[in-house]
Amino acid sequence: MIPSNFEYHKPDSIDGALSILTEWGDDARVIAGGHSLIPVMKQRLTDISHLIDLGGISELKGISIENNKVSIGAMTTQHELITNTQLAKFVPLIREASLQIADPQVRYVGTIGGNVANGDPANDMPGLMQTLDASYELTGPNGVRIVKARDFYEAAYFTAREDEEILTSISFSVPNCGYAYEKQKRKIGDYATAAAGVLINMDNDTCSFASIALTNLSDTPVYCEEAVNNLVGKKVDSNAIKKAVHYCVEASDPVADTRGPVEFKKYVAGIIVQKAIENAIARV
Ligand SMILES: Cc1cc2nc3c(=O)[nH]c(=O)nc-3n(C[C@H](O)[C@H](O)[C@H](O)COP(=O)(O)OP(=O)(O)OC[C@H]3O[C@@H](n4cnc5c(N)ncnc54)[C@H](O)[C@@H]3O)c2cc1C
Repeated sequence: MIPSNFEYHKPDSIDGALSILTEWGDDARVIAGGHSLIPVMKQRLTDISHLIDLGGISELKGISIENNKVSIGAMTTQHELITNTQLAKFVPLIREASLQIADPQVRYVGTIGGNVANGDPANDMPGLMQTLDASYELTGPNGVRIVKARDFYEAAYFTAREDEEILTSISFSVPNCGYAYEKQKRKIGDYATAAAGVLINMDNDTCSFASIALTNLSDTPVYCEEAVNNLVGKKVDSNAIKKAVHYCVEASDPVADTRGPVEFKKYVAGIIVQKAIENAIARV
């Protein structure tokens, strides 16, 4: 199918985009890479009269790492996340996860902003950003506000972003610890059946820091607070890992679909979380 008629806007500033959004309200929508939005427009699942292309706004692009803080513009593509050598050096977790998203064709165009703003539980970046304890910068007609990735997701496709706000950038501290992003998918290019992001630091054999979040195992990404609380300060042996895996699986709430029944997804979740924790520990 082809989308219904719409007017195409390509502003060259955030202010320009905001003024079109404010003028047309519910009838307007921003577009980044278009990988998620265009298919729903083609299927006429959404009817948009004004499409605002963010591709002409240079302020929304780029990656900076200064004073231990990473800032990534919303229009940075997944390909750029993979090829940025500074990012790969300081936050290899991002490269590891991005390489598992779809295929190169998708990654050349798909953006980090579109991936996290969409609210699709199958997208990898939201769980990854919860693992990194990232903050999202939202810019609207009333100014800028910051929302933590861990507070942003309310339900599938429902987020804390107001309709007239644009997600402008994502920031987080450089994590100086072991990392892993493990993803189980049916075939190359598929979304996750289950995925997990893990950061861990150790003080000898005791866990001094941990962060774990899951992808596509609930209608939002799942930050596994109980698993983290049960790891930090504890001697990390096979029992402690088993316990953490148990808390992660308990925190998940998948639904049965073409990727399998609930029991299967929980089983896969257990395996990938264990693998991610073990890999992260090995890299500390
Ligand atoms: C075949 C295929 C396989 C894929 N596999 C994976 C996968 O395995 N893992 C994965 O994570 N992703 C996957 N994706 C998704 C893809 O990687 C994109 O990240 C995703 O489609 C959204 O990014 P986009 O830039 O295309 O956003 P768009 O489609 O342009 O936008 C998506 C939504 O977000 C809103 N939006 C976009 N940018 C902003 C912004 N800055 N501020 C506010 N709202 C905004 C739009 O209005 C729209 O509602 C796949 C896509 C395809 C087509």
